[in-house]
This record gives sequence, C-alpha cells and structure tokens, in this order.
Amino acid sequence: MDKETLLSIGRPQRRCMNCDAQIDMIERHASVLRPAGDHAVERCDYCPTCWEQLKDDAYESFWMTRRDTTPRKAPKMSRRERSMALRALFESLWDRREAEDVGPEIYLLAHLLMKWGGLKYRENAADISGRPCLVFEDPASGDRIEIADIEVGDERLASIQQRIDDFLSEYANEDKASDE
Ligand SMILES: [Zn+2]
Repeated sequence: MDKETLLSIGRPQRRCMNCDAQIDMIERHASVLRPAGDHAVERCDYCPTCWEQLKDDAYESFWMTRRDTTPRKAPKMSRRERSMALRALFESLWDRREAEDVGPEIYLLAHLLMKWGGLKYRENAADISGRPCLVFEDPASGDRIEIADIEVGDERLASIQQRIDDFLSEYANEDKASDE
C-alpha cells in the first residue's frame, strides 16, 4: 500500500456500515478496506453481528460463486488435473487457516491429496501443543505439513465433499472455456 492510499483511510466510523448500530463503544470490531479508485480505499466498520454474517458470506463465495440447487457430480478429470485443482484449493485454505475455521476442509483435502497425489502421508504425531496431528510431506518440496487430526462429523464431511466437487466442476469448466 503506498502513502497516498494509506492517507485515504478514514477514521473509525461511529456506526455499523451495514445495520447502522452504534459501534464506537465496542472495544473490538471488524474493519474492512475496499479499493475505491486509484490510490484510495474506503473504510467499512461493522458491528460483530453483521460481521459474523458478512464473514460467512465472503467465505461461501470464495469457492462457490454460482449456486445451483441440483448437486453436481465431480467432473471427469485426469488424475493430474484433479490433483492440481485440489492442490490449489488446499493452498488457498492453508493460507487462511489461522484466520478462519477451515480445519475440517484442510483435513479432508489432505486425505484427498493423499489419494490423488500431491501429499504423502508420513506419520501420526503431536503438534507443539501436544495435540494429535497427521504429518504429510509435500513430494515436490519435501516440506513437512502438519494437519490437526480432528473429528469431523459425517454430515460436515458430506457437505465439504459436495463443495469440493462443486469447486472441481467449476475448475474443469473454466479450463474448457479457456481452451476454446
Ligand atoms: Zn451491524
């Protein structure tokens, strides 16, 4: 961010951008910066209630831009294509793991990558805090990747699997579109 852009950031607003609730007495609330033309950003402050909602929406739209009521089947893809798409998804979630509750998604993706190629299972171990984790290796870089070994309910797994299939199907369609 350059100096000009930094200077364009306004002071915290007194009211929630979404519902107009008073927020200047709340100790911590979310603020989002949105691009507003060249070298300018708009500051948006949100009350915790609205933020919960907005955050979830942002998260949903991240890999599901189009909503279809009919569940889509995983598209036909080569092993390599599938592994690349899953890998891309895994990496974007991995980067967000501290900010968002994506543990179950990462957990399932790691297992899919183990199956389709992209990660190698090494061992069950414990992380720094002593919590159980699964250790994987990135065959390309040799990096050690620790994934929290968590219990994920069947229903949650099924819904994540569905969203991954949706993502793969978007990914496959996009690929086709750019080839034409
Ligand atoms: Zn609000």
